[in-house]
Amino acid sequence: MEYVIGIDGGGTKSAISILDLQGNVLFTGRGGPTNIRSEGREEACENLKNLIVKSVEKMHLKLGDCRAICVGTAGAGREEEKEIVTNCLKEIGVKGNMVVTHDAEIILSEAIEKREGIVVIAGTGSLAYGRKDGIEKRAGGWGHLLGDEGSAYYIAVEGIKAALRYYDGRGNYTKLLDMMMKRLNVKRPEEFIGFVYKDGITKADIAELAKVVDEAYKEGDKEARKILKKSAEELFNLTKAVVKAFKWENDEISIVVTGSVFINNESVFKEFSRLIKKYYPKANIKKLDKDASYGAAILALSFLKD
Ligand code: BGC
Repeated sequence: MEYVIGIDGGGTKSAISILDLQGNVLFTGRGGPTNIRSEGREEACENLKNLIVKSVEKMHLKLGDCRAICVGTAGAGREEEKEIVTNCLKEIGVKGNMVVTHDAEIILSEAIEKREGIVVIAGTGSLAYGRKDGIEKRAGGWGHLLGDEGSAYYIAVEGIKAALRYYDGRGNYTKLLDMMMKRLNVKRPEEFIGFVYKDGITKADIAELAKVVDEAYKEGDKEARKILKKSAEELFNLTKAVVKAFKWENDEISIVVTGSVFINNESVFKEFSRLIKKYYPKANIKKLDKDASYGAAILALSFLKD
C-alpha cells in the first residue's frame, strides 16, 4: 500500500503521521528529539530513523512504498542542515519525494488556509515565521546559545539565574531557589553547576525546568511572574519583526502559536495575546495544541500532486 509520511521534529520530542494517498490518517506516533543542532547530528539522525522505521513496521508497510516524506524539524532552517537530514533519510532507504524544512512551515500548512500568516513557536526553542506569496521572513530561531528568547529553555535558565541571584544576596526573594533544588533533588545551589554541565545534558533536560517557573508563578512568586512576562514580551518582539517585514500592522493577519510554553504557561499566552490585540487589533490568534506532523504529511501529499 502506498502512503506518505509527515514528521514534526522538536527539541524535546518528535511526532509522525502516516497518511494514505487519499489523505486518511493511517498512523500517528511519537519519538525522540530530532534537532541536529541541539541534539547532535548522530543522535538526531538515529531518533529520526527509529521513528520512521518502527512506525512503518508497526503498520506492516514497506519503506519502498513511501511515495513522499516531509520532515519539518527544529534546527533545519538552513540548506546545510536540510542536507544533513535528507542524508539521514536516504540512509534508511526512503525513496519517494523527500522534503526537509523547518518546524514552522509545516505548522503554517496545517493551521492557516492559503499558507499566509505568522507562526510563533515557543517550545524548547523559539521562532516567529511569516509567509506571503511565497516570500518568507524568520525572526529568532537562532538556537539556545544565540537566542531562543521566550522559549522553555529561556524560562528555565532565567528561573535558575533568579534563584542564584537571591542565594547570593544580590536579587529579590524567590521561591524558585527551594523549588529548583527540590526538582533537581540537590541539597545545595552549588550543585546546579553539576546539573547544567553534566555530560550528556541536553537543551531539553534544562527546558523541562520551565515548569518549575510556572509552578512558582502560580504560587504567587514575583520573580517567576517577571520571567514569564518577559518571555511573552520577547515572543511579541519576534512577531513584531515579522509583522513589520510584511507591513501587516493594519491587516487581518492569522497568527498561530504553538509549543510547550504557549500550551503549559497560560500566563505567557495571555500576555502575548494582550500585546498582539493592543498593537494589531485586527489580528486573529489561534493556539495549535496538537503536533504538526499531519501538516507535514499534507505537504508531502501536495508534492505528489504538483
Ligand atoms: C531552533 C529553530 C526552531 C525553533 C523553534 C530553535 O531553537 O534553532 O530551528 O525553529 O527553535 O522550534
